[in-house]
Amino acid sequence: MLYFTVDMYHDFECSADACPSTCCGLGWNIDIDEETYQKMIEYEEQLGIPADDWLVRRNGRICVKQVDSRCPMLNENNLCNVVLKLGPDYMCEVCKLYPRMPAQYGDVYEIYLALSCPEVVARLMNKNEVLFGFGEDDTPAPEYPYTRLYQYESAVRTIMVDVFSRSLNISLSTRLFVSFGILDRAVESVRNDQMDIDLIQRELGIEFSEEKLLCLDSNLRGIVDENRRYLFLRQIQSAMHEYVFLESFAESVHRIDEYFSQGSLEQYLTDMQDFKAALEPYHAFYLNYWVYRIFADMMEIPDYEKVQEKFVCIAAGFCLIQIMALVSYVDKRTLDQEDYIYIISGISRMTEHYEGFRNSLAEKLRENNLISPVGLLLLTIE
Ligand code: SF4
Repeated sequence: MLYFTVDMYHDFECSADACPSTCCGLGWNIDIDEETYQKMIEYEEQLGIPADDWLVRRNGRICVKQVDSRCPMLNENNLCNVVLKLGPDYMCEVCKLYPRMPAQYGDVYEIYLALSCPEVVARLMNKNEVLFGFGEDDTPAPEYPYTRLYQYESAVRTIMVDVFSRSLNISLSTRLFVSFGILDRAVESVRNDQMDIDLIQRELGIEFSEEKLLCLDSNLRGIVDENRRYLFLRQIQSAMHEYVFLESFAESVHRIDEYFSQGSLEQYLTDMQDFKAALEPYHAFYLNYWVYRIFADMMEIPDYEKVQEKFVCIAAGFCLIQIMALVSYVDKRTLDQEDYIYIISGISRMTEHYEGFRNSLAEKLRENNLISPVGLLLLTIE
């Protein structure tokens, strides 16, 4: 097997009681594997709680009985009693795995870290660049019918990142605009069964030279109609209402609602101008964020036709991050790193773990004809 991982994967460590939104305190369903369940019965005395008081069998699965949306093993300091009393080896498979997100494509195993974990976002924010690496072992690979498609999609992803990483003077929105064009070309090739990696590399290498990108960037600057963006932001923020699960996050969503229902377009335009200036220190992070997202999310097997909509949905998630950050900035007149990490991980929690939320975002984008390069320009606040 080949292993393709982001470098942060190797030295990731949970920040435990220092975490601002402990994953075991979010009301998430935690499934326990049979082996762990038996151990929890065996060590009931050390744990001080009978297994059946906190674990339940339901429809063939064993789940944690949450108390006030928290795992009962989480103590008042947000530390896990299983780890404290028995050791980390006794955690269930789900808890050992998160925030690692593995995906297997035949003989390649790709592993990413979920951005719903604030520690992952913090690491991504403090890195100069995101690096990826390969490893290999003797584990036999299962039969896989999509190897050719995987290799093609993987090559396209590398081209996107290559174009994305060119020149620091190109705006994020232009990079996303171009990336959509690359996907468009690649999807067309897959549709016509012309998956020629060398050809697409040659063509796109010429088409998206740095000089051409800079020229496109200057043509696209200022093209977004802020009035239209304002109207769309009012619509898209409402998608968050039914998926709010954390009290402090609910407050932020309520505050966004208030901002858009009670504020005016004029006020928004002034706030947005100041906010964009406050975002400047984060521009390097945006490159990391998108390079990471492209690698982690731009595989769509077997139906590559869906990849463009997925790309725009990720941009919509990024847009929601910026809306929440805008309102936080308006309230505090500053956007500190801690708040921003909390916002990014909170919105990522909704986009990464709630399919219903992703579907509702996609629906809003389709209704507004935004599954397009122009849609990306509208969604990108930088
Ligand atoms: S969200 Fe991440 S840092 Fe926080 S408790 Fe979970 S794994 Fe640890």
